[in-house]
Amino acid sequence: MICQVLIPRLGEIPKVKSLVHAHLAGEELTIEYTSGLQGTASRRRGLVDNWLFNCGCARCLDPTELGSFLSALRCFKCRQDFLLCHFDALEWVCRGCGYKIGDNEATELIEGIQEKVSRLSIFGPIDQWEGLLSEMESLIHPDHSLAMDVKRILIQVLGGHPDYPLHSLGDDALARKISLCQNYLQVYDKASKENSAG
Ligand SMILES: [Zn+2]
Ligand SMILES: [Zn+2]
Repeated sequence: MICQVLIPRLGEIPKVKSLVHAHLAGEELTIEYTSGLQGTASRRRGLVDNWLFNCGCARCLDPTELGSFLSALRCFKCRQDFLLCHFDALEWVCRGCGYKIGDNEATELIEGIQEKVSRLSIFGPIDQWEGLLSEMESLIHPDHSLAMDVKRILIQVLGGHPDYPLHSLGDDALARKISLCQNYLQVYDKASKENSAG
């Protein structure tokens, strides 16, 4: 079914109109509102801004995002455990020591990291991406969605970049590529193990 969302005037409830009927009766119809590769913090902002609803799926309601930790930040205080977002309160709480930060502080940290990622070129040396990934892991969970973005770039560069063709990769580089691929699949398997609305 193709749907059209009719933009409401201020104070009106949005209306959804079906343009094409489903061809199988009883078939569940789903669409992707936002990329499942993003962490809940950024997905939920996009859902509110663009689709005008707060998602209540299992992944959005679980601060660990079904054990994937795609939005978790390293605790500013104990530096050992991770700050998880409790979206209803818009606060981030350390799972280990209980330290809390507000959403603005979390957003500032994430924007600072995004800025560093945007300054690098995909055609630059691989060491710059490995260096940035190490730096990121001191600030966010190693499986945070931004770290996963950098891992995806590393997977592509190792064996796909003209300076690092597959036939020239040594055992260490091949092992690194395999390990990154396995980690990537494991993290997104966890995050998608329940049906998520967005
Ligand atoms: Zn802590
Ligand atoms: Zn959701």
